[in-house]
Amino acid sequence: MTLIELHQVSKTYRTHGAVTEALFNVGLKVDKGDIFGVIGHSGAGKSTLLRCVNLLERPTSGRVIVNGKELTALREKELQQERRRIGMIFQHFNLLTTATVTENIAFPLKLAKWSSSRIRARVDELLELVGLRDHAGKYPAQLSGGQKQRIGIARALATNPDVLLCDEATSALDPQTTQSILQLLLDINAKLGITILLITHEMHVIRSICNRVAVMDGGRIVEEGDVLDVFLKP
Ligand code: ADP
Ligand code: ADP
Repeated sequence: MTLIELHQVSKTYRTHGAVTEALFNVGLKVDKGDIFGVIGHSGAGKSTLLRCVNLLERPTSGRVIVNGKELTALREKELQQERRRIGMIFQHFNLLTTATVTENIAFPLKLAKWSSSRIRARVDELLELVGLRDHAGKYPAQLSGGQKQRIGIARALATNPDVLLCDEATSALDPQTTQSILQLLLDINAKLGITILLITHEMHVIRSICNRVAVMDGGRIVEEGDVLDVFLKP
């Protein structure tokens, strides 16, 4: 089953008279259960592509369909609803620095107007999932990079999304911590059935956890397929 579809998605940025064509007619299909990696050099358009999936960035043209819903056709209110089914994590974690671990994870649940008892139970489950039970009352500054990304993952999964978008999620981490976060992503995919779409400039990230890969260059997908096929070709 296809979970994410992009049809002829283009994105042009216009800032101060400068025009940057970041995406040209990109088509993409991600199946349910995939760990799909998009790789390419800096400036290739990966981040723009990822942000077009949850409409953090609005495509200039083209259609984005997630879970059978055409996001590009929705009103803001319906879009907010659908976004709860799409989690996202970031290179620099994007945590609330003045909030505790618990408060960071609870944040999207408050926005979604969950009751405080449901929030408490859900936050406990998530702390367990990412292995941060002993750090619930700490602030992000008291934690390591790997622990911060675990908070990011717990927050992204809070509303039970079907999809997790990962924007260079391990690029700010050392190799050992990177491995532990990649292992956590594998577990989340295997145990919870969450589909993962990640962007990276690092081949080893693709090789260690992805089953599918697309290679981007100059705003286009220039190659796509099973990881083994794409990277074992002569
Ligand atoms: P990547 O993630 O592969 O590094 P990006 O999607 O960030 O690529 O960028 C693709 C192109 O679009 C680059 O030329 C970049 O400078 C430009 N770009 C990205 N975001 C913006 C923006 N908000 N405003 C203007 N140009 C942007
Ligand atoms: P990343 O580490 O994700 O590649 P970037 O440094 O590419 O981050 O971009 C950081 C932010 O700056 C993003 O919100 C992106 O949209 C914006 N951005 C990137 N390139 C440009 C640009 N040429 N002009 C304006 N904004 C940009």
